[in-house]
Amino acid sequence: MYEQLFRGIVSLQKNSFIDYPGKASAILFFTGCNLRCPFCHNATLADGTTEPTISPTEIIEYLTKRKKFLDGVTITGGEPTLYPNLPELVHFLKNDLGYSVKLDSNGLNPTMLEQTSFDFLAMDLKTTPERYESQLGAQEKVAENLLKSLEIVKSMGANAEIRITCAPGIVDDSVIESLLPLLKGVHAVRLQPFKYSDNVIDPKFFLNTPMITDEDLFRWKDRIGEVVNECSVRGK
Ligand code: SF4
Repeated sequence: MYEQLFRGIVSLQKNSFIDYPGKASAILFFTGCNLRCPFCHNATLADGTTEPTISPTEIIEYLTKRKKFLDGVTITGGEPTLYPNLPELVHFLKNDLGYSVKLDSNGLNPTMLEQTSFDFLAMDLKTTPERYESQLGAQEKVAENLLKSLEIVKSMGANAEIRITCAPGIVDDSVIESLLPLLKGVHAVRLQPFKYSDNVIDPKFFLNTPMITDEDLFRWKDRIGEVVNECSVRGK
């Protein structure tokens, strides 16, 4: 009965205290993504080959049972906006189960963002829009969509944030400088330090690339902090 509503969801993380700002949340993972970031740690989620490890009924039972201990549900991927059932799923989690919903998105589908009634949005801005095709495997020009999604983030004030994964070869001083005008008006930016592992989609990409230091991260934090209300480095 709930198969269609939960189409694309392959797994559930039962709780997290760091993914949804100010809330204890469960995390639902969609499979499949329209990018191929070299630094992605979820290769099978990105290419959509992850098999479901939990059924919709089990998810609903868990969320119903844990209502006293959890305040929110984080929906992530992969890329959730690839699925037309997303708006209905968010509506169900909010109105039938009574949860606040946070959505993680790469921002390439502003139309779907507009149609979905999430309470909090975390959007990735991975590098300058011009580099999405050559470095991140985007199949089409993305600038227009990214800019529209950025406007949605700005309109949500403190209920939205931009995340930048600081991966070597993808983010550097010149990228940060180019992003500053786009970020103006965003409430919060979170810089996520890149952690190399053999599981990344394209380990060769990082072979001869100088690593990003804490000094770089804090210089970028200060620079971005000049145009947004809050900027932080995750885990530092
Ligand atoms: S947007 Fe990039 S990091 Fe996120 S799931 Fe897709 S390929 Fe992985």
